[in-house]
Amino acid sequence: MSKIKKRIVFKVGSGVITESNEIAKERMLNLVSFLVEVRKHHEVMLVTSGAVSAGYTSLKLDRKIQISKKILAAVGQPILISSYKRKFDIFNVDMAQILLTEDDFDSRTHTKIFQQIIDSCLANGILPVINENDISTTPEQVFGDNDQLSGHVTHYTNSDLLVILSDIDGYYDSNPSNNKDAKIIKHVKQISDEELEQEHTPNNDFATGGIVTKLKAAKYLIEKNRQMFLCDGYDLSTAKDFVLSGIHEKGTLFSK
Ligand code: ADP
Repeated sequence: MSKIKKRIVFKVGSGVITESNEIAKERMLNLVSFLVEVRKHHEVMLVTSGAVSAGYTSLKLDRKIQISKKILAAVGQPILISSYKRKFDIFNVDMAQILLTEDDFDSRTHTKIFQQIIDSCLANGILPVINENDISTTPEQVFGDNDQLSGHVTHYTNSDLLVILSDIDGYYDSNPSNNKDAKIIKHVKQISDEELEQEHTPNNDFATGGIVTKLKAAKYLIEKNRQMFLCDGYDLSTAKDFVLSGIHEKGTLFSK
């Protein structure tokens, strides 16, 4: 994997990028410095959650109320993005902020515009930082989580791989929060309907995904002949080994 130049999408969840309603600055810096290293070898973009929980640092509203969630996202997105920018500035890497909704993938014209923006950013050495535009989505429209959004981003930008940096270090044969004997599955080639029908189980109040949305993204990408790697977002060594050295010891690879 390290020899051939690939196009890779990284997705980080709000559990990893925020801690006790604050941006987890050290973890963000570790992530940014990892991405800066990866982009020496591959084309890189980032899908990041965390706007709603960053907004909560300034404004205590109930995120379970739709309009409050949008307000938190509006307040939090600049907090989140300026925090990323300060870190990318340390490495002299320019970044772009791209906010998407489901509509951006619903027609060829929209999808093409999005592809052109990404292609042009990457061709000019600018790292795209993408998030769902929570402010303008309606409840019927939302992907609802960045797992599926990042699956679509991966496909439509013709990327080879989606790396999900999660609060969990892989996909287990049963929910590891309830079963201490659960074991990581190293390679998943297909996903059953039964697996997709299990309960949604995000691990913290600000997470909206849980394992099911990750499996949906994985199924989508497997069908499109692309790969997804689910691994620990707190300790980036598994992601580093996989992306930079082609070593797969921990984490789950979803691919044909
Ligand atoms: P993220 O940090 O990626 O946003 P989420 O909290 O949305 O993570 O989803 C991961 C959580 O899903 C895990 O922390 C775990 O509690 C739950 N989960 C349920 N079933 C499984 C499973 N079979 N394998 C891994 N995690 C699972």
